Amino acid sequence: MESIEYFRPSTLDEALYFLKENGDRSRIIAGGTDLMISLREEKLNCDFLVDITHLDELKGISVRDAYIDIGPLTTHSELSESEIIKRDAPILAKAALSVGGVQIRNIGTVGGNIVNGSPAADTLPPIVVLEGVLTVKSATKTEEIGIENFYEAPYKPIIKNDEILTNIRIKKIENGERFLFEKLARRVSLAISRMSLAIVLKANEEKMIEKIKIACGSVTPTPVRIRSVENLLMGKIITEDLADKASILLGEEMVKTTGIRWSTAYKKPVIGNMLKRALFELIGF
Ligand SMILES: Cc1cc2nc3c(=O)[nH]c(=O)nc-3n(C[C@H](O)[C@H](O)[C@H](O)COP(=O)(O)OP(=O)(O)OC[C@H]3O[C@@H](n4cnc5c(N)ncnc54)[C@H](O)[C@@H]3O)c2cc1C
Repeated sequence: MESIEYFRPSTLDEALYFLKENGDRSRIIAGGTDLMISLREEKLNCDFLVDITHLDELKGISVRDAYIDIGPLTTHSELSESEIIKRDAPILAKAALSVGGVQIRNIGTVGGNIVNGSPAADTLPPIVVLEGVLTVKSATKTEEIGIENFYEAPYKPIIKNDEILTNIRIKKIENGERFLFEKLARRVSLAISRMSLAIVLKANEEKMIEKIKIACGSVTPTPVRIRSVENLLMGKIITEDLADKASILLGEEMVKTTGIRWSTAYKKPVIGNMLKRALFELIGF
């Protein structure tokens, strides 16, 4: 059994100073829903657990102009129930509501979901299409990093061990923008991988796409917009034929970034069909 000391700082500065001195021997714990699994498997390899759950500086949701600031300690339940998120970023409220069961949503945080960096993490595709910018602090500096640049590989965020994610800024859904988050739940009996799709788009009365942002869960290794598909659709009128082309291209993009896997035969057509159905739903066929 690993022996780990528990440290509970009472301010963000205290936490950052502790990490400056001991970051290479520490792990931050928020809700612990991911971390406790590593602890149980004795994979933590650290001397200190730094519990940030009491730091008020990392809590709360607020709106300023076209942006929403979300404290990383916001739980999935708080996200899905927040009046601000439900009104101005409902795509994220829906994703948060789809995380695990109610117990997990009550303690798992959006910051932990981001830093853990699973390709299947449910809040990531919506945060990508809402152009999320993450604030990361150490004792000596503050940096802002676009969510698409926050990972070098699955489960490998670029955050350093003396840094804390302190804020998540997303864009509000604008007037006239349509949006969708869909998650294909894992069916245990069939052991099928699950995928998710997040889209924000604007179309005119002729069903011509004027703006589109697409991101998927469990399709790309790290959360990124699927720009080849966006470019195919931009400025075009959505027809059945175009939706078919976009759905094939999305499947091909998945294979290009992840290679052929045991799940590809299933996932490639399914993610394409999810996109096609989403386009029809959003454009109103
Ligand atoms: C049964 C079960 C079901 C689940 N279902 C889903 C699901 O359907 N969808 C989904 O997306 N996830 C799911 N999860 C995963 C998990 O609940 C989420 O990833 C959760 O959001 C992690 O947040 P946390 O606060 O528990 O993070 P923790 O476990 O405390 O931390 C996770 C990682 O983030 C780091 N960290 C946390 N906060 C910060 C911060 N502010 N700054 C720097 N580093 C930080 C920690 O050091 C650790 O490396 C499930 C987990 C379980 C156990």
